[in-house]
Amino acid sequence: MPDRRNLYFFHKRDEELQEKLDHLYDLARKYDFTVVKDYRNANIIVSIGGDGTFLQSVRKTGFRDDCLYAGISTTEHLSMYCDFYINDISKMAEAMANKQIEVRRYPTIEVTVDGESNFFCLNEFSIRSSIIRTFAMDVYIDDLHFETFRGDGMIVATPTGSTAYNKSVNGSVVDPLLPCMQVSEIASMNNNSYRTLGSSFILSGDRKLTLMVVPDGNEHPTMAMDNEALSIKHVRKIEVKLSDKIIKTVKLKDNSFWEKVKRTFL
Ligand code: NAP
Ligand code: MN
Repeated sequence: MPDRRNLYFFHKRDEELQEKLDHLYDLARKYDFTVVKDYRNANIIVSIGGDGTFLQSVRKTGFRDDCLYAGISTTEHLSMYCDFYINDISKMAEAMANKQIEVRRYPTIEVTVDGESNFFCLNEFSIRSSIIRTFAMDVYIDDLHFETFRGDGMIVATPTGSTAYNKSVNGSVVDPLLPCMQVSEIASMNNNSYRTLGSSFILSGDRKLTLMVVPDGNEHPTMAMDNEALSIKHVRKIEVKLSDKIIKTVKLKDNSFWEKVKRTFL
């Protein structure tokens, strides 16, 4: 592990937070970190906010696999991506100052739309009808035509994203030690014309999922990568696979994935 000394703080502009931020910046310098203004010069990226902010911090800094990411919670609760409290950051400074620091590795997925636009997701790729009408998609696993879906939409979640949107539609919670992606339906129609598996399914990291939007008048679904909407308005073909980009986070004694699940949900 290289000696990581260049810290970049990612947060919303927030006057209420400013005093705490000043304190955080001072503490970082006290522990001999250099606080950099440009994330491209960083090797540690710290997000201050909630899980939503953490997702943004990874996206806005380009899914750097040569950086270590960490999340500081601004509430009194820790969450899935936030392991440190803003009011108790000594734990964080200690963790960062430790040269033998261990890392957790989170799989991400890569999505290609119509063979042109490429992007990454840490939580999930989601596609939903943007109007009250349903839309249809042919679903392929590798080259196999698996099913024809008609309904509200679909979610393709990473293991760490499995506790987010995926969980709200009854998907399973998946251990991030398994490099895989989970496909979950949002309100599928099942009748004599349309039939889907109905349950979520988990694909190995070696598989490719292809969604072909059926051109039947509703080919303008809303697509999102984590918490950011895609601006692409018309879509035909979506390919999803596990990406080779891995997001690294700090491994602490009390932050195994299942500890996080317990502290967040139980
Ligand atoms: P949001 O709509 O403000 O928040 C959704 C909630 O999900 C927040 O409480 C957020 O935590 C939490 N969250 C985010 N990632 C999570 C994860 N990996 N495991 C467990 N909880 C997680 O949007 P947001 O804060 O920007 O988060 C974006 C995510 O919201 C999307 O990636 C998607 O997974 C999820 N989402 C869920 C639904 C649903 O459940 N019906 C619908 C749309 C989107 P914080 O409060 O700490 O930010
Ligand atoms: Mn949020």
